[in-house]
Amino acid sequence: ARDAGLALLREHAFIAGEPVASAKRIPVDDPATGEIIGHVPDLGAAETERAIQAAHDAFPDWSRSDPHKRATFLREWARLIDENTEGLGALMALENGKPFEEARGEVAYANSFIKWFAGEAERLLGETQDSPLGHVILTFREAVGPCAFITPWNFPAAMLTRKLGPAFAAGCTAVVKPASQTPFTALALAELAYAAGLPKGALSVITGDAATIGGVLTASPLIRKLSFTGSTPVGRKLAEQCAPTLKRVSMELGGAAPLIVFADADIDLAVAETVRGKFRNSGQTCVCPNRVYVEASVADAYAEKLAAEVAKIPVGAAFETGVKVGPLIEDKAIAKVEDHLARVQASGGKVLTGGARHALGGRFFQPTVTLGGDDELFRHEETFGPLIPVFPFNSEDEVLGKANDSEFGLASYVFTRDLDRAMRVGRRIEAGMCGVNTGLISTAVAPFGGVKQSGYGREGSVHGIDEYVDIKAVTLALK
Ligand code: ADP
Repeated sequence: ARDAGLALLREHAFIAGEPVASAKRIPVDDPATGEIIGHVPDLGAAETERAIQAAHDAFPDWSRSDPHKRATFLREWARLIDENTEGLGALMALENGKPFEEARGEVAYANSFIKWFAGEAERLLGETQDSPLGHVILTFREAVGPCAFITPWNFPAAMLTRKLGPAFAAGCTAVVKPASQTPFTALALAELAYAAGLPKGALSVITGDAATIGGVLTASPLIRKLSFTGSTPVGRKLAEQCAPTLKRVSMELGGAAPLIVFADADIDLAVAETVRGKFRNSGQTCVCPNRVYVEASVADAYAEKLAAEVAKIPVGAAFETGVKVGPLIEDKAIAKVEDHLARVQASGGKVLTGGARHALGGRFFQPTVTLGGDDELFRHEETFGPLIPVFPFNSEDEVLGKANDSEFGLASYVFTRDLDRAMRVGRRIEAGMCGVNTGLISTAVAPFGGVKQSGYGREGSVHGIDEYVDIKAVTLALK
Protein backbone atom coordinates (compact mmCIF):
# COMPACT_ATOMS: atom_id res chain seq x y z
CA ALA A 1 0.00 0.00 0.00
CA ARG A 2 2.84 2.34 0.90
CA ASP A 3 4.23 2.00 -2.63
CA ALA A 4 0.86 2.80 -4.17
CA GLY A 5 0.91 6.00 -2.12
CA LEU A 6 4.45 6.93 -3.12
CA ALA A 7 3.50 6.36 -6.79
CA LEU A 8 1.03 9.29 -6.47
CA LEU A 9 3.47 11.61 -4.68
CA ARG A 10 4.31 14.68 -6.80
CA GLU A 11 6.94 17.15 -5.70
CA HIS A 12 5.59 20.03 -7.75
CA ALA A 13 2.64 22.38 -7.48
CA PHE A 14 0.15 23.05 -10.29
CA ILE A 15 -0.62 26.35 -11.94
CA ALA A 16 -3.44 25.82 -14.42
CA GLY A 17 -2.53 22.18 -14.79
CA GLU A 18 1.16 22.82 -15.43
CA PRO A 19 3.68 21.45 -12.93
CA VAL A 20 5.64 24.18 -11.15
CA ALA A 21 8.84 23.66 -9.18
CA SER A 22 11.11 26.01 -7.24
CA ALA A 23 14.66 26.04 -5.94
CA LYS A 24 13.44 26.66 -2.39
CA ARG A 25 11.41 23.73 -1.10
CA ILE A 26 9.40 22.72 1.97
CA PRO A 27 9.97 19.29 3.51
CA VAL A 28 6.99 17.10 4.38
CA ASP A 29 7.44 14.44 7.04
CA ASP A 30 5.78 11.23 8.17
CA PRO A 31 4.43 12.14 11.62
CA ALA A 32 5.03 8.59 12.83
CA THR A 33 8.80 8.79 12.35
CA GLY A 34 9.66 12.39 11.52
CA GLU A 35 11.31 11.12 8.32
CA ILE A 36 11.05 13.35 5.27
CA ILE A 37 8.82 11.72 2.65
CA GLY A 38 9.24 14.45 0.03
CA HIS A 39 9.30 18.17 -0.68
CA VAL A 40 6.96 20.71 -2.26
CA PRO A 41 7.90 24.02 -3.88
CA ASP A 42 7.99 27.08 -1.66
CA LEU A 43 6.03 29.37 -3.97
CA GLY A 44 5.13 32.98 -3.29
CA ALA A 45 3.25 36.03 -4.48
CA ALA A 46 4.23 35.86 -8.18
CA GLU A 47 3.03 32.26 -8.63
CA THR A 48 -0.14 32.96 -6.65
CA GLU A 49 -0.90 35.91 -8.96
CA ARG A 50 -0.44 33.67 -12.00
CA ALA A 51 -2.82 31.09 -10.56
CA ILE A 52 -5.40 33.79 -9.81
CA GLN A 53 -5.13 35.12 -13.36
CA ALA A 54 -5.62 31.59 -14.73
CA ALA A 55 -8.73 31.10 -12.56
CA HIS A 56 -10.04 34.45 -13.77
CA ASP A 57 -9.37 33.63 -17.44
CA ALA A 58 -10.98 30.19 -17.18
CA PHE A 59 -14.07 31.48 -15.37
CA PRO A 60 -16.25 32.77 -18.27
CA ASP A 61 -16.22 29.50 -20.24
CA TRP A 62 -16.48 27.19 -17.23
CA SER A 63 -19.24 29.16 -15.50
CA ARG A 64 -21.30 29.30 -18.70
CA SER A 65 -20.73 25.64 -19.56
CA ASP A 66 -23.62 23.19 -19.52
CA PRO A 67 -24.06 22.10 -15.89
CA HIS A 68 -24.61 18.54 -17.11
CA LYS A 69 -21.14 18.67 -18.60
CA ARG A 70 -19.77 19.75 -15.24
CA ALA A 71 -21.66 16.89 -13.61
CA THR A 72 -20.11 14.49 -16.11
CA PHE A 73 -16.66 15.83 -15.24
CA LEU A 74 -17.36 15.43 -11.49
CA ARG A 75 -18.49 11.82 -12.00
CA GLU A 76 -15.38 11.01 -14.00
CA TRP A 77 -13.20 12.60 -11.31
CA ALA A 78 -15.04 10.52 -8.69
CA ARG A 79 -14.47 7.38 -10.75
CA LEU A 80 -10.72 8.04 -10.89
CA ILE A 81 -10.64 8.71 -7.15
CA ASP A 82 -12.45 5.42 -6.48
CA GLU A 83 -9.95 3.67 -8.73
CA ASN A 84 -7.06 5.21 -6.76
CA THR A 85 -8.47 4.72 -3.26
CA GLU A 86 -5.56 2.63 -2.09
CA GLY A 87 -2.89 5.03 -3.38
CA LEU A 88 -4.63 8.16 -2.15
CA GLY A 89 -5.30 6.56 1.24
CA ALA A 90 -1.66 5.49 1.56
CA LEU A 91 -0.36 8.91 0.54
CA MET A 92 -2.61 10.54 3.11
CA ALA A 93 -1.55 8.04 5.79
CA LEU A 94 2.09 8.87 5.02
CA GLU A 95 1.78 12.63 5.30
CA ASN A 96 -0.92 12.86 7.98
CA GLY A 97 -0.15 9.75 10.07
CA LYS A 98 -3.75 8.51 10.33
CA PRO A 99 -4.20 4.72 10.19
CA PHE A 100 -4.31 3.46 6.60
CA GLU A 101 -7.81 1.97 6.98
CA GLU A 102 -9.08 5.29 8.28
CA ALA A 103 -7.34 7.13 5.43
CA ARG A 104 -9.09 4.88 2.89
CA GLY A 105 -12.32 5.72 4.66
CA GLU A 106 -11.57 9.40 4.25
CA VAL A 107 -11.01 8.92 0.52
CA ALA A 108 -14.52 7.43 0.24
CA TYR A 109 -15.94 10.22 2.42
CA ALA A 110 -14.12 12.87 0.36
CA ASN A 111 -15.42 11.34 -2.83
CA SER A 112 -19.00 11.31 -1.53
CA PHE A 113 -18.95 15.12 -1.78
CA ILE A 114 -17.93 15.00 -5.43
CA LYS A 115 -20.66 12.47 -6.20
CA TRP A 116 -23.28 14.43 -4.27
CA PHE A 117 -22.43 17.74 -5.94
CA ALA A 118 -22.42 16.14 -9.40
CA GLY A 119 -26.14 15.69 -8.73
CA GLU A 120 -26.47 19.22 -7.41
CA ALA A 121 -24.99 20.61 -10.66
CA GLU A 122 -28.01 19.13 -12.40
CA ARG A 123 -30.37 20.77 -9.91
CA LEU A 124 -29.31 24.43 -10.07
CA LEU A 125 -32.96 25.41 -9.98
CA GLY A 126 -34.34 28.90 -10.39
CA GLU A 127 -37.76 30.37 -9.57
CA THR A 128 -40.43 32.38 -11.29
CA GLN A 129 -42.55 34.97 -9.55
CA ASP A 130 -45.30 37.33 -10.70
CA SER A 131 -44.44 40.86 -9.69
CA PRO A 132 -46.91 43.50 -8.43
CA LEU A 133 -45.50 45.71 -11.17
CA GLY A 134 -47.04 43.37 -13.74
CA HIS A 135 -43.74 41.73 -14.58
CA VAL A 136 -42.43 38.22 -14.27
CA ILE A 137 -39.27 37.74 -12.26
CA LEU A 138 -36.95 34.87 -13.11
CA THR A 139 -34.10 33.88 -10.83
CA PHE A 140 -30.89 32.19 -11.90
CA ARG A 141 -28.22 30.76 -9.65
CA GLU A 142 -24.92 31.91 -11.09
CA ALA A 143 -21.36 31.00 -10.10
CA VAL A 144 -19.87 33.59 -7.72
CA GLY A 145 -16.51 33.68 -9.51
CA PRO A 146 -12.97 32.45 -8.99
CA CYS A 147 -12.57 31.05 -5.46
CA ALA A 148 -9.67 30.69 -3.03
CA PHE A 149 -9.56 27.62 -0.80
CA ILE A 150 -7.27 27.30 2.21
CA THR A 151 -7.46 23.82 3.74
CA PRO A 152 -6.12 22.10 6.87
CA TRP A 153 -4.01 18.99 7.40
CA ASN A 154 -6.47 16.90 9.44
CA PHE A 155 -8.63 15.84 6.48
CA PRO A 156 -6.36 16.49 3.50
CA ALA A 157 -8.85 15.05 0.98
CA ALA A 158 -12.31 15.69 2.41
CA MET A 159 -11.79 19.34 3.38
CA LEU A 160 -10.81 19.98 -0.22
CA THR A 161 -13.53 18.05 -2.06
CA ARG A 162 -16.17 19.55 0.23
CA LYS A 163 -15.22 22.89 -1.35
CA LEU A 164 -14.19 21.88 -4.87
CA GLY A 165 -17.26 19.65 -5.41
CA PRO A 166 -19.84 22.43 -5.02
CA ALA A 167 -17.54 25.05 -6.57
CA PHE A 168 -17.10 23.08 -9.79
CA ALA A 169 -20.77 22.09 -9.81
CA ALA A 170 -21.75 25.75 -9.67
CA GLY A 171 -19.23 26.73 -12.36
CA CYS A 172 -16.59 28.37 -10.17
CA THR A 173 -12.85 28.10 -10.75
CA ALA A 174 -10.39 27.73 -7.87
CA VAL A 175 -6.95 28.37 -6.44
CA VAL A 176 -6.11 26.00 -3.59
CA LYS A 177 -3.56 26.43 -0.81
CA PRO A 178 -3.29 23.11 1.04
CA ALA A 179 -1.73 22.83 4.50
CA SER A 180 2.05 22.54 4.30
CA GLN A 181 2.01 19.41 6.51
CA THR A 182 -0.18 17.52 3.99
CA PRO A 183 0.13 18.95 0.47
CA PHE A 184 0.57 15.68 -1.44
CA THR A 185 -3.03 14.47 -1.19
CA ALA A 186 -4.27 17.77 -2.67
CA LEU A 187 -1.73 17.59 -5.51
CA ALA A 188 -2.71 13.99 -6.30
CA LEU A 189 -6.41 14.92 -6.32
CA ALA A 190 -5.67 17.84 -8.67
CA GLU A 191 -3.81 15.58 -11.08
CA LEU A 192 -6.84 13.27 -11.18
CA ALA A 193 -9.14 16.26 -11.78
CA TYR A 194 -7.14 17.30 -14.85
CA ALA A 195 -7.12 13.68 -16.03
CA ALA A 196 -10.91 13.64 -15.67
CA GLY A 197 -11.20 16.52 -18.13
CA LEU A 198 -11.29 19.66 -15.97
CA PRO A 199 -10.22 22.74 -17.98
CA LYS A 200 -6.68 23.34 -16.77
CA GLY A 201 -7.18 26.96 -15.73
CA ALA A 202 -10.11 26.01 -13.50
CA LEU A 203 -7.78 24.67 -10.79
CA SER A 204 -4.36 25.57 -9.42
CA VAL A 205 -2.73 24.23 -6.27
CA ILE A 206 -0.11 26.55 -4.77
CA THR A 207 2.25 25.33 -2.04
CA GLY A 208 4.37 27.60 0.12
CA ASP A 209 4.16 30.03 2.98
CA ALA A 210 0.54 30.27 4.13
CA ALA A 211 0.56 33.91 5.20
CA THR A 212 2.15 35.08 1.93
CA ILE A 213 -0.14 33.06 -0.34
CA GLY A 214 -3.18 33.77 1.83
CA GLY A 215 -2.36 37.47 1.75
CA VAL A 216 -2.28 37.57 -2.06
CA LEU A 217 -5.42 35.44 -2.43
CA THR A 218 -7.45 37.53 -0.01
CA ALA A 219 -6.24 40.89 -1.41
CA SER A 220 -6.97 40.05 -5.03
CA PRO A 221 -10.07 41.71 -6.49
CA LEU A 222 -10.29 38.84 -9.01
CA ILE A 223 -10.99 36.29 -6.26
CA ARG A 224 -14.69 36.60 -5.39
CA LYS A 225 -14.96 34.01 -2.63
CA LEU A 226 -12.81 32.55 0.12
CA SER A 227 -13.59 29.29 1.86
CA PHE A 228 -11.35 28.46 4.78
CA THR A 229 -11.18 25.49 7.13
CA GLY A 230 -8.81 25.90 10.04
CA SER A 231 -8.34 27.63 13.34
CA THR A 232 -10.47 30.52 14.59
CA PRO A 233 -7.57 33.01 14.95
CA VAL A 234 -6.46 32.46 11.34
CA GLY A 235 -10.08 32.55 10.14
CA ARG A 236 -10.65 35.85 11.88
CA LYS A 237 -7.57 37.31 10.21
CA LEU A 238 -8.54 36.02 6.77
CA ALA A 239 -12.07 37.42 7.10
CA GLU A 240 -10.51 40.78 7.93
CA GLN A 241 -8.26 40.54 4.88
CA CYS A 242 -11.29 39.78 2.70
CA ALA A 243 -13.21 42.85 3.87
CA PRO A 244 -11.60 45.47 1.58
CA THR A 245 -12.69 43.55 -1.55
CA LEU A 246 -15.99 42.41 0.04
CA LYS A 247 -15.47 38.78 -0.89
CA ARG A 248 -17.99 36.17 0.00
CA VAL A 249 -16.53 34.14 2.84
CA SER A 250 -17.19 30.72 4.34
CA MET A 251 -15.47 29.84 7.60
CA GLU A 252 -15.27 26.36 9.09
CA LEU A 253 -13.35 27.04 12.29
CA GLY A 254 -12.58 25.50 15.62
CA GLY A 255 -14.99 23.95 18.09
CA ALA A 256 -15.04 22.82 21.72
CA ALA A 257 -17.74 20.20 21.32
CA PRO A 258 -19.62 19.17 24.47
CA LEU A 259 -20.83 15.58 24.76
CA ILE A 260 -23.60 15.20 27.34
CA VAL A 261 -24.63 11.88 28.86
CA PHE A 262 -27.86 11.86 30.90
CA ALA A 263 -28.54 9.20 33.53
CA ASP A 264 -31.29 7.66 31.38
CA ALA A 265 -28.91 7.05 28.45
CA ASP A 266 -27.78 3.68 27.16
CA ILE A 267 -24.39 3.90 28.84
CA ASP A 268 -22.69 1.24 26.71
CA LEU A 269 -23.83 3.05 23.57
CA ALA A 270 -22.65 6.39 24.96
CA VAL A 271 -19.24 4.90 25.73
CA ALA A 272 -18.89 3.32 22.28
CA GLU A 273 -19.96 6.51 20.50
CA THR A 274 -17.69 8.69 22.63
CA VAL A 275 -14.76 6.53 21.57
CA ARG A 276 -15.85 6.60 17.93
CA GLY A 277 -16.31 10.36 17.89
CA LYS A 278 -13.22 11.23 19.89
CA PHE A 279 -10.51 9.11 18.35
CA ARG A 280 -11.05 9.73 14.66
CA ASN A 281 -7.80 11.13 13.36
CA SER A 282 -6.32 10.61 16.84
CA GLY A 283 -8.62 13.27 18.29
CA GLN A 284 -7.58 15.87 15.74
CA THR A 285 -10.95 16.87 14.30
CA CYS A 286 -12.94 20.02 14.87
CA VAL A 287 -16.07 17.99 15.73
CA CYS A 288 -14.36 15.69 18.26
CA PRO A 289 -15.96 15.80 21.71
CA ASN A 290 -13.66 18.18 23.61
CA ARG A 291 -15.42 17.85 26.99
CA VAL A 292 -17.75 15.17 28.29
CA TYR A 293 -20.46 15.97 30.85
CA VAL A 294 -22.08 13.01 32.62
CA GLU A 295 -24.98 13.14 35.04
CA ALA A 296 -23.49 12.56 38.50
CA SER A 297 -25.46 9.40 39.32
CA VAL A 298 -23.87 7.52 36.38
CA ALA A 299 -20.57 9.39 36.13
CA ASP A 300 -18.43 6.70 37.75
CA ALA A 301 -20.05 3.88 35.78
CA TYR A 302 -19.66 5.73 32.48
CA ALA A 303 -16.10 6.88 33.17
CA GLU A 304 -14.94 3.42 34.27
CA LYS A 305 -16.40 1.75 31.17
CA LEU A 306 -14.98 4.49 28.98
CA ALA A 307 -11.51 4.11 30.52
CA ALA A 308 -11.65 0.34 30.04
CA GLU A 309 -12.50 0.78 26.34
CA VAL A 310 -9.94 3.51 25.78
CA ALA A 311 -7.20 1.42 27.41
CA LYS A 312 -7.75 -1.22 24.70
CA ILE A 313 -7.28 1.11 21.72
CA PRO A 314 -4.35 -0.03 19.58
CA VAL A 315 -1.87 2.80 18.97
CA GLY A 316 0.74 2.74 16.23
CA ALA A 317 2.02 3.84 12.84
CA ALA A 318 -0.36 4.06 9.90
CA PHE A 319 0.47 0.82 8.11
CA GLU A 320 0.49 -1.52 11.11
CA THR A 321 -2.52 -3.80 11.13
CA GLY A 322 -5.39 -3.06 13.46
CA VAL A 323 -4.10 0.35 14.53
CA LYS A 324 -6.84 2.81 15.53
CA VAL A 325 -4.89 5.79 16.86
CA GLY A 326 -1.80 7.21 15.19
CA PRO A 327 0.70 9.94 16.01
CA LEU A 328 -0.24 13.60 16.29
CA ILE A 329 0.63 15.85 13.39
CA GLU A 330 3.55 17.73 14.94
CA ASP A 331 5.55 18.21 18.13
CA LYS A 332 3.60 21.22 19.34
CA ALA A 333 0.38 19.18 19.15
CA ILE A 334 1.84 16.78 21.72
CA ALA A 335 2.88 19.68 23.92
CA LYS A 336 -0.70 21.02 23.85
CA VAL A 337 -2.20 17.70 24.98
CA GLU A 338 0.34 17.52 27.79
CA ASP A 339 -0.52 21.06 28.84
CA HIS A 340 -4.29 20.39 28.88
CA LEU A 341 -3.76 17.19 30.83
CA ALA A 342 -1.55 18.94 33.38
CA ARG A 343 -4.11 21.72 33.81
CA VAL A 344 -7.11 19.42 34.32
CA GLN A 345 -5.06 17.40 36.82
CA ALA A 346 -4.00 20.57 38.65
CA SER A 347 -7.69 21.44 39.08
CA GLY A 348 -8.48 18.06 40.61
CA GLY A 349 -9.02 15.77 37.61
CA LYS A 350 -7.92 12.15 38.09
CA VAL A 351 -6.34 10.10 35.30
CA LEU A 352 -8.34 6.87 34.75
CA THR A 353 -6.25 5.58 31.85
CA GLY A 354 -3.30 6.83 29.81
CA GLY A 355 -1.90 10.09 31.07
CA ALA A 356 1.46 10.31 29.34
CA ARG A 357 3.35 10.16 26.08
CA HIS A 358 3.22 6.73 24.49
CA ALA A 359 6.08 4.24 24.73
CA LEU A 360 6.38 4.50 20.93
CA GLY A 361 7.90 7.95 21.53
CA GLY A 362 7.91 10.78 19.00
CA ARG A 363 4.46 12.24 18.46
CA PHE A 364 2.52 9.35 19.99
CA PHE A 365 0.37 10.02 23.05
CA GLN A 366 -1.57 7.48 25.11
CA PRO A 367 -5.35 7.62 24.68
CA THR A 368 -6.33 9.22 27.96
CA VAL A 369 -9.45 9.63 30.13
CA THR A 370 -9.69 11.92 33.16
CA LEU A 371 -12.55 12.36 35.63
CA GLY A 372 -13.36 15.54 37.49
CA GLY A 373 -11.55 18.85 37.83
CA ASP A 374 -12.44 22.15 36.20
CA ASP A 375 -14.02 22.14 32.71
CA GLU A 376 -13.42 25.87 32.06
CA LEU A 377 -10.32 25.35 29.90
CA PHE A 378 -12.15 22.90 27.64
CA ARG A 379 -14.97 25.37 26.92
CA HIS A 380 -12.47 27.71 25.32
CA GLU A 381 -9.61 25.63 23.94
CA GLU A 382 -9.62 22.64 21.64
CA THR A 383 -7.28 19.91 22.84
CA PHE A 384 -6.99 18.36 19.34
CA GLY A 385 -5.56 15.12 20.68
CA PRO A 386 -6.46 11.84 22.39
CA LEU A 387 -7.58 13.23 25.76
CA ILE A 388 -11.17 12.90 27.06
CA PRO A 389 -11.88 14.95 30.17
CA VAL A 390 -15.10 13.81 31.89
CA PHE A 391 -17.00 16.13 34.26
CA PRO A 392 -20.04 15.19 36.40
CA PHE A 393 -23.15 17.43 36.38
CA ASN A 394 -26.42 17.54 38.33
CA SER A 395 -29.14 19.10 36.19
CA GLU A 396 -30.16 19.77 32.61
CA ASP A 397 -30.05 23.54 33.09
CA GLU A 398 -26.63 23.38 34.68
CA VAL A 399 -25.16 21.30 31.87
CA LEU A 400 -26.73 23.41 29.14
CA GLY A 401 -25.26 26.48 30.80
CA LYS A 402 -21.81 24.93 30.72
CA ALA A 403 -22.21 23.58 27.21
CA ASN A 404 -23.26 26.99 25.88
CA ASP A 405 -20.71 29.01 27.84
CA SER A 406 -18.22 28.92 25.01
CA GLU A 407 -17.34 31.25 22.16
CA PHE A 408 -17.51 28.17 19.92
CA GLY A 409 -20.56 26.40 18.52
CA LEU A 410 -19.68 23.69 16.02
CA ALA A 411 -20.63 20.14 17.04
CA SER A 412 -22.43 18.82 20.13
CA TYR A 413 -23.62 15.43 21.27
CA VAL A 414 -26.40 14.31 23.60
CA PHE A 415 -27.12 10.83 24.95
CA THR A 416 -30.56 10.18 26.43
CA ARG A 417 -33.51 7.82 25.90
CA ASP A 418 -35.98 10.59 26.67
CA LEU A 419 -37.29 11.99 23.39
CA ASP A 420 -38.58 15.19 24.98
CA ARG A 421 -35.20 15.84 26.54
CA ALA A 422 -33.40 15.03 23.29
CA MET A 423 -35.50 17.61 21.45
CA ARG A 424 -35.21 20.20 24.23
CA VAL A 425 -31.44 19.93 24.46
CA GLY A 426 -30.99 19.52 20.71
CA ARG A 427 -32.85 22.80 20.15
CA ARG A 428 -31.35 24.78 23.05
CA ILE A 429 -27.74 23.85 22.51
CA GLU A 430 -25.75 26.56 20.74
CA ALA A 431 -24.08 24.58 17.97
CA GLY A 432 -24.42 24.15 14.23
CA MET A 433 -24.76 20.38 14.65
CA CYS A 434 -26.03 18.06 17.35
CA GLY A 435 -25.73 14.27 17.37
CA VAL A 436 -28.38 12.52 19.47
CA ASN A 437 -27.22 9.08 20.61
CA THR A 438 -24.46 9.07 18.01
CA GLY A 439 -20.88 10.30 17.79
CA LEU A 440 -20.89 10.32 14.00
CA ILE A 441 -22.57 13.31 12.37
CA SER A 442 -20.55 13.98 9.22
CA THR A 443 -21.86 12.90 5.82
CA ALA A 444 -22.13 14.62 2.45
CA VAL A 445 -25.90 14.86 2.84
CA ALA A 446 -25.86 16.67 6.21
CA PRO A 447 -25.23 20.41 6.49
CA PHE A 448 -21.86 20.90 8.18
CA GLY A 449 -20.97 24.18 9.84
CA GLY A 450 -20.94 26.24 12.99
CA VAL A 451 -22.46 29.17 14.83
CA LYS A 452 -20.77 31.83 16.97
CA GLN A 453 -16.99 31.88 16.54
CA SER A 454 -16.94 28.46 14.91
CA GLY A 455 -17.69 30.27 11.68
CA TYR A 456 -20.40 30.68 9.10
CA GLY A 457 -21.58 28.95 5.97
CA ARG A 458 -22.57 25.33 5.44
CA GLU A 459 -20.79 22.61 3.53
CA GLY A 460 -22.42 19.51 2.08
CA SER A 461 -26.18 18.87 1.88
CA VAL A 462 -28.63 20.73 -0.35
CA HIS A 463 -27.32 23.98 1.17
CA GLY A 464 -23.66 23.48 0.28
CA ILE A 465 -23.96 24.83 -3.24
CA ASP A 466 -25.50 28.10 -2.01
CA GLU A 467 -22.03 29.17 -0.88
CA TYR A 468 -20.94 29.19 -4.54
CA VAL A 469 -23.86 30.88 -6.29
CA ASP A 470 -25.24 34.38 -6.48
CA ILE A 471 -28.90 34.88 -7.24
CA LYS A 472 -29.53 36.80 -10.43
CA ALA A 473 -33.01 38.26 -10.90
CA VAL A 474 -34.19 38.94 -14.45
CA THR A 475 -37.38 40.97 -14.57
CA LEU A 476 -39.42 40.45 -17.72
CA ALA A 477 -42.01 43.00 -18.74
CA LEU A 478 -44.52 41.00 -20.76
CA LYS A 479 -47.16 42.63 -22.94
P1 ADP B 1 -4.37 24.22 12.24
O1 ADP B 1 -4.31 24.47 13.71
O2 ADP B 1 -5.42 23.26 11.80
O3 ADP B 1 -3.04 24.00 11.58
P2 ADP B 1 -4.42 26.75 10.93
O4 ADP B 1 -5.55 27.71 10.92
O5 ADP B 1 -3.11 27.19 11.47
O6 ADP B 1 -5.01 25.53 11.70
O7 ADP B 1 -4.17 26.17 9.49
C1 ADP B 1 -5.17 25.89 8.57
C2 ADP B 1 -4.72 26.34 7.20
O8 ADP B 1 -4.53 27.75 7.24
C3 ADP B 1 -3.42 25.74 6.73
O9 ADP B 1 -3.49 25.52 5.32
C4 ADP B 1 -2.42 26.83 7.04
O10 ADP B 1 -1.30 26.74 6.19
C5 ADP B 1 -3.24 28.06 6.74
N1 ADP B 1 -2.78 29.30 7.38
C6 ADP B 1 -2.16 29.45 8.57
N2 ADP B 1 -1.88 30.75 8.81
C7 ADP B 1 -2.34 31.47 7.74
C8 ADP B 1 -2.37 32.85 7.38
N3 ADP B 1 -1.87 33.79 8.17
N4 ADP B 1 -2.93 33.17 6.20
C9 ADP B 1 -3.44 32.23 5.39
N5 ADP B 1 -3.46 30.94 5.68
C10 ADP B 1 -2.93 30.54 6.84
